[in-house]
Amino acid sequence: MSNFNEKNYLNMKKNEIAIFGEKDHGKIVDNIMKKDFDKIRNFPYNQYEYIKEWQLKRISEIVDYAYENIPLYHKKYSKIGYKKGMIKTWEDYEKLPILYKEELIEGFPNEIARSVEDFDLSTRSSGSSGRFVTLSLSLDAIYTDTVQGVRQMMLQSGNDYLPEDKVLFIYTLPWWITSINGKYEQEFLPTTASVEEAIEKIKETKPKIISTYPTYLTKMSSYGVDLKKYGVKLVIVHSEQSTKQSRELMEKQLNVKILDEYSSEELTRIALECPEYTYHLEEDACYIEIVDPKTKKTLGYGKKGIVVGTNLLNTSTPIIRYYQGDLAEIDKPIKCKCGNNCRILKHIAGRYMDSIITETNEIIPASAFMDVAYNWFCALAIPIHGLRYQFIQYTKDKLELYIIKGIYDIDLKKIEDSIYVLIPKSMKLEIKIVDELPEIGQKYRPVVSFVKEGK
Ligand SMILES: [Zn+2]
Repeated sequence: MSNFNEKNYLNMKKNEIAIFGEKDHGKIVDNIMKKDFDKIRNFPYNQYEYIKEWQLKRISEIVDYAYENIPLYHKKYSKIGYKKGMIKTWEDYEKLPILYKEELIEGFPNEIARSVEDFDLSTRSSGSSGRFVTLSLSLDAIYTDTVQGVRQMMLQSGNDYLPEDKVLFIYTLPWWITSINGKYEQEFLPTTASVEEAIEKIKETKPKIISTYPTYLTKMSSYGVDLKKYGVKLVIVHSEQSTKQSRELMEKQLNVKILDEYSSEELTRIALECPEYTYHLEEDACYIEIVDPKTKKTLGYGKKGIVVGTNLLNTSTPIIRYYQGDLAEIDKPIKCKCGNNCRILKHIAGRYMDSIITETNEIIPASAFMDVAYNWFCALAIPIHGLRYQFIQYTKDKLELYIIKGIYDIDLKKIEDSIYVLIPKSMKLEIKIVDELPEIGQKYRPVVSFVKEGK
C-alpha cells in the first residue's frame, strides 16, 4: 500500500477538470457516432443468441485483462487457478468468484487499477449502502457510455429524441460530456435547487426529457406542475427505488410519462423501462445474472435472487461478477412491442440488505413496505405531499417507522394495522413522528435494515 491518501485523491479530482478539458470530447464522440452509431443503436434489436455470443467474447477479454493487469483480480483469480484464455463458456464465467464492494473500497487505489494515475478520471459514489467507493474510468468507457446515453433517450422516448432535443438532468453532478458537437445537449441543475428554480430552468431551456431522482420528482408533483405544458415529453427516474404505483400517480399529477432507469455507478445502465413499461437489460453495458442469496449459484429464468453484474465498458477499474445486492429476477427475452430482444428484468425489489428479516428468517423485501406506504395515501387519503417515512430495523424482533407528518393528522392505528398485514404479530412496531428522518445519506432509502441474515 502506497502512502496515497484522501488528500492526494482530492487534489487529483481538482486536476481532473483540467485534464479532461484539454480535448473537445464532444467532437470525438461525434466521430465515434458517425462510424458506430447504427451498430450501437441496433444492438438491442439483434437476435439474443448473437447478443450472448458477443457478451461472452467481451467478458473473456475483460477477465484476461483484469487478471494480467489489476492486482486485486490477479490475486483473486490465481487462487482458483485461473489462466489467460480460460473463459470459453458461461459455466467458466460462473465459476469466477463474486466481487464485493468492500474489496473495491479496501483495494483503492493500488489494487484496483493499473496505476494511481488511472484515477485521473474517476467516479465516486456512496450508492445505496452509504459507503463510498471510488473507481477509475477509461476514456473509452466514458465515450461509449455517452453514446449509450443517446440510445437510452431514443429507446425510452419511443424514438422521439432528435439531435436538437435537450435533456435536463436534475442530479448531483453533471455528466462528463454535455454536448456531442452541438447535438444532444444536456442541461444540468443540482438537486439542491428549489422547485421554483427547476421550473424557471425548464421554461428557459425547454427540455424534451428530464432525468432525476424520484424524491425530487415527488417534490415537483406536490407543486402541481404541468410538465406537458412546458413541452416535456418524458421523465426518467433513477438512483433511488420507486414503485410502479407511485410513478403512475406522479404521471397523473405532472401530466407526463415517467419511466424508470435501473443503474449503478459500478455497472452503469443495468435495465431501462421501455414505453411498454418493460425493463430490458442493457446487454452491451453490463452482463447481469441472478444468484442465490445463500449459495451464490447462478439462478435460471424466473427465479428471484441477487443481482450480480459485469461492467462491459470500463476496464480501468474492471467490475467483474460484482454483487450489486438488489433483489430481482430475469425473464427470457421475448420480442417486445418496442423491438427490444434483450432479457427482461422483473420484480426489482431494492437491496436485499434492506429487506426486513423476521425472527423465523422470513425475508420481506423493501418494495412490500413501499406498496403498503402507497396504500396509506390511497386507502387512508393522506395527501402525499409533506408526508415522508422511513422504516428502520436494528433487531429481528422490532421494526421502527419514522414519519414526518404532512399538513393533516394521521390515524396511526390504521397505519399500524396496515403494517401488521406484512410483519408477524410477534414483531414489535414502533411508530415515531419526527421532524427529520434518521438515515438520510446521498440517496433516500425508504427501508433500511441493519440486520444481517443469520445473526
Ligand atoms: Zn420493450
